Amino acid sequence: MTDIIEVVKDRDPQEREFHQAVTEVMESIKPVLDQNPIYRQAKIPERLVEPERVIMFRVPWADDQGNVQVNRGFRIEMNSALGPYKGGLRFHPSVNLGILKFLAFEQVFKNALTTLPMGGGKGGSDFDPKGKSDNEVMRFCQSFMSELFRHIGPDTDVPAGDIGVGAREIGYLFGMYKKLRNEFTGVLTGKGLNWGGSLIRPEATGYGSVYFAAEMLATRNESLEGKTCLVSGSGNVAQFTTEKLIELGAKVVTLSDSSGYIYDESGLDAQKLEYVKVLKNVRRGRISEYADKFASAVHTEVDPAADCNPLWNHKADCAFPSATQNEINAKDAQNLIDNGVFLVSEGANMPTMPDGIDIFKDQKILYGPGKAANAGGVSVSGLEMTQNSMRLSWTRDEVDSRLKLIMKTIHRTCVDAAEQYGQSGNYEAGANIAGFVKVVDAMLDQGLV
Ligand code: NDP
Repeated sequence: MTDIIEVVKDRDPQEREFHQAVTEVMESIKPVLDQNPIYRQAKIPERLVEPERVIMFRVPWADDQGNVQVNRGFRIEMNSALGPYKGGLRFHPSVNLGILKFLAFEQVFKNALTTLPMGGGKGGSDFDPKGKSDNEVMRFCQSFMSELFRHIGPDTDVPAGDIGVGAREIGYLFGMYKKLRNEFTGVLTGKGLNWGGSLIRPEATGYGSVYFAAEMLATRNESLEGKTCLVSGSGNVAQFTTEKLIELGAKVVTLSDSSGYIYDESGLDAQKLEYVKVLKNVRRGRISEYADKFASAVHTEVDPAADCNPLWNHKADCAFPSATQNEINAKDAQNLIDNGVFLVSEGANMPTMPDGIDIFKDQKILYGPGKAANAGGVSVSGLEMTQNSMRLSWTRDEVDSRLKLIMKTIHRTCVDAAEQYGQSGNYEAGANIAGFVKVVDAMLDQGLV
């Protein structure tokens, strides 16, 4: 197994996040490969780590001063064994090929776990929407789509949102696609409710991560009621994780952005959360303003180069990392455990570094990896695709109950797969194994393509 990891590292030495994601999956599926020699004979590991297609393109646009700006656009079409490529677009200055390949690779297994017919992909740009006017964001999205449109389609590749891509960006992207293709189809998910979007799609990743946590807790006859929770991020996933936690009687005491975090000792309530939604989604302000508004909260700046993040060093029961990759290192993981945290449900993709995961597994806490715990978002995207094809809209309750059922099924699938390979209670192994087997069996059925 070391071989394939070394091959990947040698081939693209600079793609560190991709190496990390490949290593994590390949180590978990070793027992499956050992018991099923056909997978190695068919070079399944080698085929899985190579994207089916990588599209990389220039995105020129003009800012409000009339200056020409140039960004780089990407779409990674990773694996289509189970359905059209499906996965979000990320607009963030850190975006590069390695980060998008890691996200696309994770997406393949995550989508397999949802039970819906979706392959895996991911895309985005190093464009930073922060500080840009709506008109600048629109011009950027139009330029981005003027290339991407020829590679995507409702039966080919269906992008969605991710960091920096929310309802506003999806609207501009969809508008340009519709104009260029002269057709109104479900080519993107996360659309506005009155033009093809699904109820519960904005909420789905956060709600799903909380439903997954509730399932994990139920295995120990516990519930979220009365639990103190640490949430990171303050974007889409963090907001709806917080909303569902409050609804289920938990106390959320932290939120963050890339400048720092707030600790609110009295906990967030619905009114404070509404303030955060307007602050982040409408005013596009900083989370530090929360502490100016509410006396019970303090804001702490976080130095990304420090050896740990103080957000993870507060007394709590549960943690919901919902900002970005690699936000919990080994020291943070140990701090969480020392402060009483016994459940981590990952709303973000790959938020915990490998040595942090080892600590969670060694201490036998309930650890729900992103590819299982945050699969609710892509699941409801899949339900949005179904509604678009049927040309109808399901009610809020109908979508929410399907989401709950999918999260319950993913939880059960992880538990069963881990047990089958002698790793009871290890959700990381269970998610990787179950996702892997589903995808690669489809690849074998479809021949060498
Ligand atoms: P948003 O853009 O809505 O919010 C991202 C949040 O994370 C912001 O608060 C942002 O702060 C913070 N953040 C981003 N980068 C960093 C960083 N380098 N350091 C610290 N904080 C950072 O994105 P989402 O909520 O949609 O996504 C959050 C995570 O969830 C990502 O890992 C994403 O891949 C994952 N995810 C999202 C899904 C979805 O449906 N949206 C589905 C499944 C997973 P700031 O404003 O300062 O940048």
